[in-house]
Order: sequence, then structure tokens, then C-alpha cells
Amino acid sequence: MSDRILAAVMTAPGRPVEIREFGAPDLPAGSALLRTARSEVCGTDVHLWHGRLSGVPYPIIPGHVSAGTLEAINGPLRGLDGSTLREGDRAVFFDVHRTCGRCRACTVHRTPTRCPSRRVYGITDPASEGLYGGWAQAIYLEPGVGIARLPDAVTFDDYIGAGCGLLTAVHILERAALRPADTVLVQGTGAVGLSAIALARLGGASTIVAIGAPAARLDLARAMGADCVYDVEGSTAAERLEQVRAVTHGEGVDVVIEAAGSARAFEEGLALARDGGRYVVAGHYTDNGPSIVNAHHHINRKHLEVRGCWGSEPGHFLRALSVLERHAANVPWRRIGGRTYALDRLNDALADAEAMRITKALVDPSVVGQRSGASAVQPSA
Ligand SMILES: [Zn+2]
Ligand SMILES: [Zn+2]
Repeated sequence: MSDRILAAVMTAPGRPVEIREFGAPDLPAGSALLRTARSEVCGTDVHLWHGRLSGVPYPIIPGHVSAGTLEAINGPLRGLDGSTLREGDRAVFFDVHRTCGRCRACTVHRTPTRCPSRRVYGITDPASEGLYGGWAQAIYLEPGVGIARLPDAVTFDDYIGAGCGLLTAVHILERAALRPADTVLVQGTGAVGLSAIALARLGGASTIVAIGAPAARLDLARAMGADCVYDVEGSTAAERLEQVRAVTHGEGVDVVIEAAGSARAFEEGLALARDGGRYVVAGHYTDNGPSIVNAHHHINRKHLEVRGCWGSEPGHFLRALSVLERHAANVPWRRIGGRTYALDRLNDALADAEAMRITKALVDPSVVGQRSGASAVQPSA
């Protein structure tokens, strides 16, 4: 391999992403170097670009969910499933690392996603420490990172099309305690909402309603398993309340999943849940401002259960892989990846993601130096 590894670096909020050169890292025992085949530009990256997340140690190499081929291993190295990993394996890794296992969050409360030591590739790992992000030709997998072989049935584009949205959705469905024949409303048709729709469908939901935008994402929501879709911009909250009640015996839905990141969506979701229903809030990953809640009407008298959902755990990562292995041929996760961008076109990718011209941008870090007008390469099969 070449010692010269290029990475796209986000130097500070609001600044253009720059290509920088890194040397190949030394590999201590138990570590590996992953040659990146695909990474992604997700909603989190747009937030990072605008400086909306606290505690981010810019400059960073974004790209928290990525896939590639194990190029060098200082082994032996075992995957999260216990199998031995070898150089040349197609592999993926759980982006959260350094969860301590000793703090009160980890041991007493058993909420490891709230561990203060936890770090996340592409988000809270500084570029000054090396190749800790997927917008790079190679990624350093330090000792302790949870790695898994990508199942043969899953292409890189399947995996990244699902990406962080599927991991998050696995956790959301766990928090939602979905039961067979539950009615489900998903607010938001980005990558998280689309995967939540698919998992609710696979998990035995009866009617699934989605609220989102724009039209292309609503088409995808149907393809992922939604029965009724409402354009959030082309309908009013009052109309949606009436229509949701009409398909739920006048009651509202059993389970509401908020994946919209909007304070108004949260208010609406409280009204659309049935009495005694469950509401999982997962889209308020950044501060979207206050929502107006009437505790009597919306929660207390309604006997509503409201649950937050923050981050994911290794088990969600492995379950996401199993879901893809079994279902990627039939559920169109790869369609979420709208377009694939070269490493030096990620400013365009961020702009396209922000403007919702695509649902998710894929990154092919092996492609650099395209002439203008040839910035996007077609997704591979
Ligand atoms: Zn901890
Ligand atoms: Zn993400």
C-alpha cells in the first residue's frame, strides 16, 4: 500500500472541507487498517458542518459509519461475533469506542450510550490523533474497536445506504417495544425514519403512517413499508390528526417514532399517539428549541409513555448487520444512498444533503481529483 493516505478534513464549522495527507499509522497489537470502500454524508455531518453539536474537537475527519477491506492487521483480531478476522476480509466497525465499562452510566444505570468517556469515529475523534473517520482512503481501527465481517449477501452500498440510520432505528424499535399488529407513526423520512419504517414492517406492525418530505423520500417511505404517507408541507397538522384517527379506530397510533428533529413535530406526535401509547424521541439529536407540552392533556391524563433514544450499542450494530444479511435483497436500503461522491467533492455532498436534493450522499474515498462536472460517480452494485 501507499504510505500517503488522503482524507477530507472538516477544519471548523462553516469552513470548506479540505483534502489533507496523512501517513500510514503504526499498528499496535489488536489494531487494524481498513481500506475505505464507502462512507457516508448523513444528517449528523450537516450538523457538524454548522457547528450544531457540542464537544466536537475540530479539525475532524467526518464519516462515522464506513465499510471497507482489512488491509493490515496486527493480530490476532477477533470480530464482535467472536470470529477471527483476516487481511482481505470485507469489514465494518461500530463507530462508538472507548466506552469505559466502569462509570456509573456503564455499570449502575446500564446506559452505556451516556458514558462520558465514549468517543465516536468521525464525530468526537480529532484529526490530530490520526485516521479516525471514514472520509479518508483508510481508517485506523484502534485496539478495542468492535469490528465485524460484512456478510457476503450485503454489498458496500447496501450497508452504507442503511448506515447509521439503520443502527439508530434498531435501537428505536427496541425502545418502542413494538408488538405484533401495533399501529406505528414515523415522523421524518430521512435515513433514520426510513429504516424505522422498514423495521416496523419487518417487526409485524399493522398500519404504518409516515410524515415527511420531499416527494422522493415519501416514495422511498412507501417502498420501505409505509401504508400512508403525508407531505409535511402539503398538509396541516389538523388534517393529519383527522386522517391518522381515521385509520386507527379514532384512537391515534400505538407507537409514535420521532425522527424529524423538529420541535413542532414533537408537539404533533403527542397528539397523534393514542391514550396509553408509546412515543420514542430520537430525532432531537441537536437542540431544536423548546416544544410546548400540556402535561395534563398530552402525558398525564393520556397515560402516555415518552422515551428518549440516544446513540447505539454494539448489539444494535450486530443486529443491523443481521437484518441486512437477511433482508437487503428485498428492502431497498441501497436506494437511500442517492449519489456517490468523490473525496474532493464533499462540499458539494454536504450542500446537496442540506438542500435535501438527495436522501443520503455516499462517499467513495478512492476517487479523488475528478474534473468539475464529473464530481459524482454512480453507485456500484
Ligand atoms: Zn462508562
Ligand atoms: Zn450518521
